[in-house]
Amino acid sequence: DVCVLGSFMKDLVASADRRPLPGETLHGTGFAEFLGGKGVNQAVAAARMGARTAIVGTIGDDRYGEEFLELLKADGVHTDWVVRHPELGTGVGLPLVLPDGSNSIIIVSRANAAITSADVEAAAEVLTSSAVLSVQLELPVEASRAALQLASTAGVITILTPAPVGPVDSSLAAFVDILVPNEVEAAALTGLDCDDEAQVPGIARRLADEWDLRGCVITLGSRGAFVLDRAVGEGVRIPAHRVATVDTVGAGDAFCGSLAASLAAGAGLADAVRLANAAGALSTTVNGAADSAPDRLAAMALLDG
Ligand code: ADP
Repeated sequence: DVCVLGSFMKDLVASADRRPLPGETLHGTGFAEFLGGKGVNQAVAAARMGARTAIVGTIGDDRYGEEFLELLKADGVHTDWVVRHPELGTGVGLPLVLPDGSNSIIIVSRANAAITSADVEAAAEVLTSSAVLSVQLELPVEASRAALQLASTAGVITILTPAPVGPVDSSLAAFVDILVPNEVEAAALTGLDCDDEAQVPGIARRLADEWDLRGCVITLGSRGAFVLDRAVGEGVRIPAHRVATVDTVGAGDAFCGSLAASLAAGAGLADAVRLANAAGALSTTVNGAADSAPDRLAAMALLDG
């Protein structure tokens, strides 16, 4: 089984020809709403990849919270450990997308920021009985640390996606088995540049040594991924699948959810990354966040194709 601790973010996306000036009201050219947040994205991805999945997090007692519970239920994700906060609203993201595809995003964490270590301890049963726990950094670090520590102490395989990019609390390292940074996060953590292919194995090795990891996986966007399994020693460079990409939002989460599902099913790290690489690629062929995660059959077909 997979357990995900993470965020719930309702995305309200506006498109416009340019950014509004201070004091200006600008007519937009389009609007879309998506259910996202790294926690939800990873949980939906893990469930679609065939894992029994539970999510731990906080939402508001509002319409967006209802929408999340419906989506998660439809995908078979257990929501018994989701806390509904009566006074705070569900987290929202407000991206503005420009014609060249670039964006500016305002995130308001709301209920996500209210999760406490006590909420996490109330979910101890699912955190310690799952095969894999996946955590990102959109929630207060105390909650992430409490979950990682509970799971790690119980022998659960723990995965950390160090996103969004920023300083990472070094006290998390002791409880993390597998670190999955993208190239921006890997660069921020080491000061080294993943654009230079020759550096990538050394960056993974350095993170694995510094964090005393079981494995380090660096996702490289349209270049694929690199996986270092310390038990095996040598790293493996896995090239990306060629797909018709329309929207890369959530690719990293589809990748991590798939990785968690495969590890929970007993796969080795390199094989788990191969399938995650297919899941990440497929997620870029669909618009949206949580709902762009592919199912297991589609990912296997791309991998075998
Ligand atoms: P994030 O979404 O966190 O920035 P990446 O951009 O590194 O993460 O994407 C995660 C994974 O998704 C990649 O390692 C790769 O497997 C897959 N992926 C992302 N973009 C593409 C793409 N354009 N073509 C094929 N696969 C992709």
